[in-house]
Amino acid sequence: MPVKPFKLRCRYCNQPVDWPPQQPRCPRPTCRGPLQPKRNITFDAHLIELAATGMWRYRHLLPPTPDNPITLGEGWTPLLRLEPDSDQLLYVKNETLNPTGSFKDRGAAFLINTIQGQEKIVIDDSSGNAGAALAAYAARAERQARIFVPAAAPEAKKAQIRRYGAELDEVEGDRDAVAQAADIFAQRADVFYASHVWHPGYALAMQTIAWEIWEQLGRRAPEWVILPAGNGSLLRGVRWGFRALQKAKYIKELPRLVAVQVANCAPLAAFMAGTYRAGRFQARPTRADGVAIPNPPLIEAMAAAVRKTRGRVVTIVEEAIRQTQIDLAQKGFYVEPTAALPYAALPQLQPHFSLNDTVVLILTGHGFKAQ
Ligand SMILES: [Zn+2]
Repeated sequence: MPVKPFKLRCRYCNQPVDWPPQQPRCPRPTCRGPLQPKRNITFDAHLIELAATGMWRYRHLLPPTPDNPITLGEGWTPLLRLEPDSDQLLYVKNETLNPTGSFKDRGAAFLINTIQGQEKIVIDDSSGNAGAALAAYAARAERQARIFVPAAAPEAKKAQIRRYGAELDEVEGDRDAVAQAADIFAQRADVFYASHVWHPGYALAMQTIAWEIWEQLGRRAPEWVILPAGNGSLLRGVRWGFRALQKAKYIKELPRLVAVQVANCAPLAAFMAGTYRAGRFQARPTRADGVAIPNPPLIEAMAAAVRKTRGRVVTIVEEAIRQTQIDLAQKGFYVEPTAALPYAALPQLQPHFSLNDTVVLILTGHGFKAQ
């Protein structure tokens, strides 16, 4: 029921591309830039389908998918006050309660639905969570999946991918090496590269997090949204979602988006400071494997999402991660190291908050996945 056909364009060369794209990047061989919506989606609250499961209540606000979406119940996760007795309006959006334990389920579910009816193997390269999500939805859709992971990815994440029945391809080297291996395999005609980094559908599905926060706060936007940033699909998608609400005049101001990285791997912080050099960024190991991405291909778009919302980039020292996980667990929230980063960022952000600001932390992944 979407009103107009949905169109994409290349962020670099403006090449128009129809929805759904046949490959996740710009089709021009000399460009291969990231695809994004030709224009921002305009939100319309009348199109929310209240009886639909999970994030599919927003089906008519997203690019078209089949009438009966393949779903495991992803989305519509709880938004809860972190400290109900405190004066501060601090909320957590608990994405650990998605079917595979991370926010990536939204993107994976959405992409699986864009290829209904096509006989294709689905692949992705992932540090673990995106791979587990794609493996689960491939299983649900009775499709073959092949996931490229760093050999050093957490065992629990690899085990989860295998259990869903996906083929696991363990690649030696860093995340860039893993992405390269997937890119080569994706040249096969029977392969759909469900790239959580490049495929615009992935970030588009993340808009539903913004829309849910807006609904769950009683149809208003928070002043701040704090999230971990690795490859940027969550950051970009949340921005698009709030932008769609702003464009339709449901909210006045965009929330300020805070991208949290680790001090051992903070390419976005370097980019904002003007010291980042693409492909040359050196990272040190971190327990927060979800943000261990030294050279995010869409770094310029990530920086734009932060700048255009008057947001910030915050880095967390390695030593603070475990204690933050413990602090969150003692409030009842069991999260993996990457998901602890937004809470760890609070002390650095307190001076920037105003009295009565509503602050939302996105808890991205479950503690069962990585200690
Ligand atoms: Zn292009």
